Amino acid sequence: MIQGTVIKTTGSWHTVLFADGRTVPCRIRGKFRIKNTEITNPVAVGDQVDVVFQSGEHTGLITHIHERKNYIIRKSSKLSKRAQILATNIDQAILVITLESPVTTTVFTDRFLAAAEAYRIPVLMVFNKTDLYEEESLEELNNRIGLYSSLGYTCLATSVISGQGLDKLAEAIDGKTSLISGHSGVGKSSLLNAIDPSLKLRISDISEYHQAGKHTTTFPEMIRLSTGGRIIDTPGIKGFGSVDMNKEEIFHFFREIFTVSKHCRFHNCLHMGEPHCAVKESVEKGTISLSRYISYLNIMDEEEDEKYRS
Ligand code: GDP
Ligand code: ZN
Repeated sequence: MIQGTVIKTTGSWHTVLFADGRTVPCRIRGKFRIKNTEITNPVAVGDQVDVVFQSGEHTGLITHIHERKNYIIRKSSKLSKRAQILATNIDQAILVITLESPVTTTVFTDRFLAAAEAYRIPVLMVFNKTDLYEEESLEELNNRIGLYSSLGYTCLATSVISGQGLDKLAEAIDGKTSLISGHSGVGKSSLLNAIDPSLKLRISDISEYHQAGKHTTTFPEMIRLSTGGRIIDTPGIKGFGSVDMNKEEIFHFFREIFTVSKHCRFHNCLHMGEPHCAVKESVEKGTISLSRYISYLNIMDEEEDEKYRS
């Protein structure tokens, strides 16, 4: 029996990587049970598994999945209980953001950050394509980096064209398993190729990513960088998919709102206009950013809509 890492899973075959660099297609033992019946896949990318080789070590049988440090899921639909595990044992999530071509909104960003907070996965925020930015975008870049750094998020400004920040990004990726996310066209593949040219990931051209509704439902896959580090690419997935968050606890995942909420008059305050709400007061004073508060309200509104739909 030998331990390895699941780097790809397609249907009933799972590609397992071993310490010596070999990859072997493996299946799971028939009687293997999933404890949580709402999960549709027993094995996911990132899993540490024990394998027994078969047919002269050309294939293997997964006999045990080690306990997961964490995992992220995708629900088959917003209201469905059934969910697929997308990736496990993630050290950090890299969120690639661009202020131009395409625009990444603060609402999209904050939703991602809240989901990561719920999963307790640290986020590295990478602001890419800085070579394109002129006065206005540069100011916005400074504002956003200022805001998110003050909240305790690590921020990096990068450009594949000028090379800005690429060494720092390589350093942050080295030795870790990172999930990479962000809108299509922000430069995820370009950044990875710039760090490790041997990857030769496909770069989409501008005309492609402006096409709306382009969604490929490929499987998540773990990519190994020759420079060290592993990347889990979840194609076609915006942010983290859906996380189960109770409406009452959504503010827990906005760090600064959570901190200030202790001073609200009502212990069950949802910071949506209740009297003596310390959060609302902080937004008015400017100590909580208006953009963050808007993102919070945005998620709350969506939860409300869902309640009526279900
Ligand atoms: P992905 O969909 O996030 O993987 O994005 P790609 O890596 O495929 O890049 C999308 C487009 O943005 C391509 O045309 C890249 O050449 C371009 N691109 C990526 N990074 C940069 C950058 O730092 N600056 C500029 N100007 N263009 C970039
Ligand atoms: Zn409040």
